[in-house]
Amino acid sequence: MLTTTMTGNAYDVALENFDTAADAMSLDNDVREMIKYPERILTVTVPVRMDDGHIHRFEGYRVQHSMVRGPAKGGIRFHPQVTLDEVKALATWMTWKCAVVNIPFGGAKGGITCDPKHMSQDELQRMTRRYTSAILPLIGPERDIPAPDVYTNSQTMAWIMDTYSMTKGYPIPGVVTGKPISLGGSLGRNEATGRGVFYTIQSACEHLHMQLAGATVVVQGFGNAGSITAQLLHEAGAKVIAVSDSTGCVYNKNGLDIPELIHMKALVGHVEGFPESEPITPSQLLALKCDILVPAALENTVHAENAAMLGAKIVAEAANGPLTPAADRILESKGVFVIPDILCNAGGVTVSYFEWVQDEQHLFWEAQDVYNRLERVMKTSFRDVLKIHQERKVPMRIAANILGIGRVAEAVQLRSIYP
Ligand code: GLU
Repeated sequence: MLTTTMTGNAYDVALENFDTAADAMSLDNDVREMIKYPERILTVTVPVRMDDGHIHRFEGYRVQHSMVRGPAKGGIRFHPQVTLDEVKALATWMTWKCAVVNIPFGGAKGGITCDPKHMSQDELQRMTRRYTSAILPLIGPERDIPAPDVYTNSQTMAWIMDTYSMTKGYPIPGVVTGKPISLGGSLGRNEATGRGVFYTIQSACEHLHMQLAGATVVVQGFGNAGSITAQLLHEAGAKVIAVSDSTGCVYNKNGLDIPELIHMKALVGHVEGFPESEPITPSQLLALKCDILVPAALENTVHAENAAMLGAKIVAEAANGPLTPAADRILESKGVFVIPDILCNAGGVTVSYFEWVQDEQHLFWEAQDVYNRLERVMKTSFRDVLKIHQERKVPMRIAANILGIGRVAEAVQLRSIYP
């Protein structure tokens, strides 16, 4: 796989970011003990009959980090690099993310260590259903609601919804979000992460007195979040000069034709070989001089060894955890403005919340209504984080954590300890 070197453990990063913010806000030690660690961790064996007849054992996880502010919420990832520590980190970030955008959910995440690119649809379906049945005691619309993440999509959610509903004996669409529209999904959910990233970039440009039209953009990762962010920036008149996916990077200093690139990726599955572009390496891509860099792939892609060469003025974290704490410190000293993941990519879970609300009410909204509400949530949250950043003179990531952790801390103090 073509990526920059992965270093470090995502869960160590999540804990370090928590401590930095908790120290900055002088958080009470008892409260820290109560909210820092996952509430519940489940590891499951997922045996699957493969198409050639043999049985392969996959390992799966579901981690519920917090149910302090509401049901646990978070996606399910299918990827060869999934580990329990990665899922714990992603679940932790979901807790602070839901609190930053002030939606009434806690945080969770799930994952299966597998290589979905080399599995058939039938194998994926059998694996998803068996995994669902294994985590069934934990999930439900009132307790823990999965959603798509890396290499899972609305079809995966349809299989989970069906498995859960068949077991319970009646249809329960609210058990997952990011479902197909015909099963109770929400308009605007599929593009929600990218749209949310776009709104926070608009806010950042406004704050920094930068024009988005004509701004140069580099997008690392061209899945759901990366491609939709690129599309919306392109429509707003920005010039997307380079894009990468797990197989290669393409560059055109005059700007890539993003709708055509999305079309090609859908047809052939990769961006490499795009006409009117030249191939570059992942390190060259990160070093490109540009106004906005959008890391939209996996964790730890910008770290101590490569952060100094970054050429961007704004880094908009469409991915979860793309910058290590060491990278944060280097970018801070270079004056780079970072829109942290738990704010930047919170549009996905925000529209998941809208979807869950619509399912609960059996009443569905129009797309424009979803977009307007999402824009309001993202821009209000950006302003809330910016205010802490300016008043306390802390980096944007610490400001976002102070906001999110502060809301969870307030809730846990009000609930007090059981028994
Ligand atoms: N996987 C997305 C995230 O990391 C969305 C989670 C959700 O909608 O529950 O935020």
